[in-house]
Amino acid sequence: MQSLKYLAGYPPHVQERVRQMLAEGRLGALFADKYGQPHAVRNDGQLYAYVQALKERHMRKAVPLGKVVYDSKLQVMKHALGTHTAISRVQGSRLKTSRELRIASVFRDAPAEFLKMIVVHELAHLKEPEHDKAFYQLCTHMAPDYHQLEFELRLYLTHLDTGQR
Ligand SMILES: [Zn+2]
Repeated sequence: MQSLKYLAGYPPHVQERVRQMLAEGRLGALFADKYGQPHAVRNDGQLYAYVQALKERHMRKAVPLGKVVYDSKLQVMKHALGTHTAISRVQGSRLKTSRELRIASVFRDAPAEFLKMIVVHELAHLKEPEHDKAFYQLCTHMAPDYHQLEFELRLYLTHLDTGQR
């Protein structure tokens, strides 16, 4: 049975449904259908403006943003959606007066909704270091469909891994 590393935290019946969709090659069509729109946030300057706008709207009082960049070395699971690596990073930067925000470059070519989801995730970490209830409340405050988006992002990453289109 194929292991679904991006979806390990989801119940078996959900994983089973995903395996079925993979076997039938249906994921590519799903994303083309649902998320056909690429976004225009192509470089680090545009990314900074995009993140800053979201922060202004929802988290004005959080620490100021430092650098905001696309990072091609960042692994999404380890650094963005993992559970524990984020903590030490946040503790390490508590002393700083501004925060650097790195977005894995896979999001440059991902559908607009997924870029928003990961930016919301990283912005929420400015206030909440752990993936706990307060953290996810902040995420759904910024993006009401956050949980669905995170699930579909994981589907998307699974799809990319298969190399199918
Ligand atoms: Zn996180």
